[in-house]
Amino acid sequence: MEDVIKTGQFKAGYVAIIGRPNVGKSTLLNRFLKFKFSGVSQKPQTTRHKILGVLQGEDYQICFLDTPGVVTGQSDVFARRLVSLVMDAQQEADLIILMVGPGYPGEIERYLIDEMATLKKPCILLINKVDLVPKHLLLPKIEEYADLYSFKEIIPISALRLDGIDRVLSIIMEELPISDPIVDRETFTDRSERFFASEMILEKVFQRYWKEVPYFTCVEIDNFIEASSEHGGKDYISANIYVERVNQRRILIGKGGKALKEVGIEAREDIEELFGRAVYLELWVKVRPRWREDHRFLQEIGY
Ligand code: GDP
Ligand code: MG
Repeated sequence: MEDVIKTGQFKAGYVAIIGRPNVGKSTLLNRFLKFKFSGVSQKPQTTRHKILGVLQGEDYQICFLDTPGVVTGQSDVFARRLVSLVMDAQQEADLIILMVGPGYPGEIERYLIDEMATLKKPCILLINKVDLVPKHLLLPKIEEYADLYSFKEIIPISALRLDGIDRVLSIIMEELPISDPIVDRETFTDRSERFFASEMILEKVFQRYWKEVPYFTCVEIDNFIEASSEHGGKDYISANIYVERVNQRRILIGKGGKALKEVGIEAREDIEELFGRAVYLELWVKVRPRWREDHRFLQEIGY
């Protein structure tokens, strides 16, 4: 490895994955990193941060930035913060992956492409979920995208079925600049276990309540005690799930607390798998009206 760095053959760079919600950005990243790194659900805004996930190779380091999905028509402080995270990622990136669904470009795609054009960034376009459409319908869409920007490459893929993934990786490798390592050779993320625990909980809430509450929910880890003697040596994690209204709290808790208990079990299983050790998880649901407009609170929970 040292030799590779000395001879200037090492490649490293930032690759931002951007796109509207639900196109499969987190699924793709999880595929690259080969474990469940980022929350996945059918609900927009499962990813609400700019998350670094590093693919470490013998002679390369791909620093992926997973980003929140860009939506239109929301203007509260929280929504604006999410958009600015995407802009940050675009700016930091050596290479941008724009991910889209198998449909035609819409308002959000055009907006993101304009942004890229201003920054003059190299970009790979991935048309994901091609398992859902017949191949012959893809060609006109590819042509329409090709007219909008000079993409390095336009690749139809299925992140779910792993179709086209290898091709994507080899194009990224071609585009990756020669550089010394950017992060430690052992680093795979900039996020703490605390953060991942909150992501897993949020994902479960979203998966279960995808009609009722998503935009109004956030998670805060209140306590995180490793190997707690009070809990039989397991890690003890307590988390607050915030909602904006009392009826949302009622929905989340469910009859006799049943719904919340199930969310807790599912989240705990994922957290345990990621951490590789036993966890005792306690969840609380709290009402906090208009948290999306509350600068101080947003800062407290990491925005
Ligand atoms: P993100 O919001 O862009 O991060 O999207 P996610 O990765 O959370 O994925 C959104 C939904 O699309 C999830 O239900 C995924 O399982 C699903 N999905 C992702 N990739 C594919 C794919 O290639 N084909 C199909 N059919 N579904 C996919
Ligand atoms: Mg995501």
